[in-house]
Amino acid sequence: MKTLPKNLRNVVYSLLFPLYCPSCEKHLDNGRGWLCPECWSSLIGAEKGQWQHLKPLKKIAVKVAFQYDDVTRMLVQQMKFNGRIDIAEMIGEKLALCFGNLVVDYQLKAVIPVPLHPVRVRERGYDQNLVIANSFGRELNLPVYPKVIKRIKNTKPQSRLSNSERMTNLRGAFKPVMKTNDKLSGTVILLDDVIHTGSTAVGCVNALNEAGIKDMLVISAFG
Ligand SMILES: [Zn+2]
Repeated sequence: MKTLPKNLRNVVYSLLFPLYCPSCEKHLDNGRGWLCPECWSSLIGAEKGQWQHLKPLKKIAVKVAFQYDDVTRMLVQQMKFNGRIDIAEMIGEKLALCFGNLVVDYQLKAVIPVPLHPVRVRERGYDQNLVIANSFGRELNLPVYPKVIKRIKNTKPQSRLSNSERMTNLRGAFKPVMKTNDKLSGTVILLDDVIHTGSTAVGCVNALNEAGIKDMLVISAFG
């Protein structure tokens, strides 16, 4: 689907998916992105994008685009468990609109998606963080490096655990794959689809440090 031109993709989505926005029930021109453009634009928190310093990530600044509420929770479920790659692509495009200014402000070098475990990718059929990162990178002309770190533990879903269980669950979950070269010196963006307590990001930040990357920002679609 990704390789099809955009207008052809829209035709395919209009055949595959219901033509009504599940949030406002408005008729859709095509089913791409699940929500209608107005509902996408009005997602709560879409405009705020303030830097936050989550407790376990004291030195790393985190920005979240959209609030995790009833609508965005369903959006994430559709993306993760119903094979809706189009939602992941749309999220990447929206993140690029929200955070495009960071490319110049921080002289960004690359975007690194939070890796999924290979077993999870096989179950799901695709890696939604990689699709989001590719879409984000394409919009902003930013290279995507998905193989700097990898997830070596197939951890339980974080959303079902308490805060302390989340840290234990993720201990040793991420490892560097390679030492980075000069190409990656500079600030990189670590990108995740959903951020709750920040413990997943902490695991990735530590692995990125081991890989030789010191300067990074964390952005997330939902949190
Ligand atoms: Zn709508």
